[in-house]
Amino acid sequence: MNQMIVDLRSDTFTLPTPEMREAMMKADIGDDVFGEDPSVKLLEDKIAAMFGMEAGLFCPSGTMTNQIALRVHTVPQDEVICEEGAHIYYYEGGGIAYNSLCSVRLVKGKNGIMDVADLANAVRKEDVHFPKSKVLALENTSNRGGGTVYSMDSISKLSAFAQENQLRFHLDGARLFNAIIAQSQDPLVYGRLFDSISICFSKGLGAPVGSALIGTKTFIKEARRVRKVLGGGMRQAGFLAQAATYALDNHINRLADDHRRAKEIATLFGLMEEVKEVKSPETNIILAEVHESVDLSEFLSQWQQKGVKMLAFGPRQFRAVTHLGINDNHIEHLKVMTANRKRKAH
Ligand SMILES: *Cc1c(COP(=O)(O)O)cnc(C)c1O
Repeated sequence: MNQMIVDLRSDTFTLPTPEMREAMMKADIGDDVFGEDPSVKLLEDKIAAMFGMEAGLFCPSGTMTNQIALRVHTVPQDEVICEEGAHIYYYEGGGIAYNSLCSVRLVKGKNGIMDVADLANAVRKEDVHFPKSKVLALENTSNRGGGTVYSMDSISKLSAFAQENQLRFHLDGARLFNAIIAQSQDPLVYGRLFDSISICFSKGLGAPVGSALIGTKTFIKEARRVRKVLGGGMRQAGFLAQAATYALDNHINRLADDHRRAKEIATLFGLMEEVKEVKSPETNIILAEVHESVDLSEFLSQWQQKGVKMLAFGPRQFRAVTHLGINDNHIEHLKVMTANRKRKAH
């Protein structure tokens, strides 16, 4: 019998469902660099409208949508303010320095989440010694924070803070729909509070490729120029856009199942004798830490041999992520495997 594989490494491992593949194959396509791909236009208008924003831009990755946004919001020698674990800083290859010639001001939040008090000393005064503070960027949900979610109240306060300090307000919403579903938030509120939002279709939404950047018409017009110069202008991209449209129509509400399963997995982690601490998941990401005496790579490879794949996320921390490819059978299988292991001593 084939071993059951439970791939919890990332929600980027999702594969398009048969229905999504069918929708992709039926897409109306054209040359999008000439503005003639109807499926791309449909997706860009749809995602912008969902957030009450004027325009959207379909890009190959979330790194590109973030980098384009920062490039359009800044001029060289400006400064971008973000949390120290933010993807735009931590996981985008130094792109802010390379693409925008800007410096970054890091702020320490709590599990990836910042509040206005954390920003007290982050904004530069007008002085020839200093870069100009230009952008405040949030990440919701926070990846390195463990899928944590900003409350609407706290986003409103940060938005007001950005306005008072003449900062553009950008949101890395790679997993924004996870946040929206977890807290029953209204996407239109996000559109009102942020100057630009980046959203990934290739994470929990289950599309194979693609992210969108949304903002004002003027902003997106400029963003389109930057996308071209980065080599992100795609020709018959409608096949991919159609997958994203299918995901928006069919895969948003099911994120609640991913969140429930993440809680079940966290409970199972809590039963493992090697595990010292598990953070209670707010969405689809579970972060846990092994005891000092445990060799993390050994622990992960033991699970890997049993078909359970997870990622190291620090010297003792590991990450598991639920997504479209994980169903209740996988969870039952994990329960049985956990029960068969030696239980934590009481
Ligand atoms: C995945 C992710 C992105 C985008 O990554 P790509 O692989 O470039 O699509 C951006 N921000 C966060 C928080 C992410 O998790």
